[in-house]
Amino acid sequence: MTNLSLEEAKTKVKSLRNQLNKWADAYYAKDAPVVEDATYDKSYQELEKLEAQFPELVSSDSITQRVGGEIKSNFSKVEHEVPMLSMGDVFSKTELKEFDERIQKAVGHRVAYNAELKIDGLSLSLEYEDGRLVRASTRGNGSVGEDVTANARFIKDIPQTLPEPLTIEVRGECYMGKESFAKLNTERDAEGKQVFANPRNAAAGSLRQLDAKVTKKRDLSTFIYTWVNPPEQITGQHQAIKAMDKLGFHTNQTGHRFESMDEVFKFIDEYTEKRDSLSYGIDGIVLKVDDLSLQNKLGNTVKVPRWEIAYKFPPEEQETIVRDILWTV
Ligand code: NAD
Repeated sequence: MTNLSLEEAKTKVKSLRNQLNKWADAYYAKDAPVVEDATYDKSYQELEKLEAQFPELVSSDSITQRVGGEIKSNFSKVEHEVPMLSMGDVFSKTELKEFDERIQKAVGHRVAYNAELKIDGLSLSLEYEDGRLVRASTRGNGSVGEDVTANARFIKDIPQTLPEPLTIEVRGECYMGKESFAKLNTERDAEGKQVFANPRNAAAGSLRQLDAKVTKKRDLSTFIYTWVNPPEQITGQHQAIKAMDKLGFHTNQTGHRFESMDEVFKFIDEYTEKRDSLSYGIDGIVLKVDDLSLQNKLGNTVKVPRWEIAYKFPPEEQETIVRDILWTV
């Protein structure tokens, strides 16, 4: 709680929104962040707290009420039938416990969670008709994304056809492995080009290319984790991942279905340790209510699903962004 008056809070909210909008534009639209994630997250949390304390200052155009992300005007646009949302985040196990308590209160009993690694990349939607890949798109502003179908055709682990003639949409993360990222930056450096700030920006900048041949030269990968409106026999998130894996999608096999928060905490500790040794970047752990019918029941806010949360790793472990080495598209 702050001691600010309403007028003072109004001024502070305005300045935080302006600042966050500028940072978000650099990060989402230009793939070139100008501050570290921890700095962004701190201001974002400050804005959230002020809006909670002064609800009269909440407005629909606030960054807390919309999915951050712009669409590059020269890309064809894809409307997402099911919105691609953002995700709530917490920064401590205490807050994660509170999330679990909220869930239990809302559904009236204990629930099982699927814990997954939070891959540091950008969301990608893949649509198949009769078993053939027909569309790939970015999250964009959540309702409308960019058409990156031509680019996705050059990502080796994305199946162009499925073993069954299914008409489905799946979603996941497009990322660049650490080794490929280092190699790309070494090459760029040798050519006198600006290097990428981090693997997330390298992935975003490499996928969101009007010339798909540029994407072809970059070593992008995917982890697919969401089956949008899966068939009835799939009732849980863990099961959905296994089923998508069988269809030929590249899925991350480290995820676990847990019945207790103690097990979840152990999983967090394990990957906080292992994080640096993985061949791809992760910035936290995602906890999802495993039961898909409960997910539907819990629903979404305007910005995030109520049934999942990201536990973000401590800020001191995050990469430092150096302004003058940023690569712009
Ligand atoms: P987010 O990236 O923190 O979390 C949501 C995203 O996580 C999803 O859209 C999905 O793409 C991804 N994800 C990875 N693994 C997943 C998994 N296993 N299951 C489900 N989703 C998974 O949220 P956001 O709204 O895209 O971005 C907000 C964050 O971006 C901030 O917390 C901040 O750290 C960063 N950001 C930084 C700056 C900056 O200037 N440095 C600016 C804007 C945003």
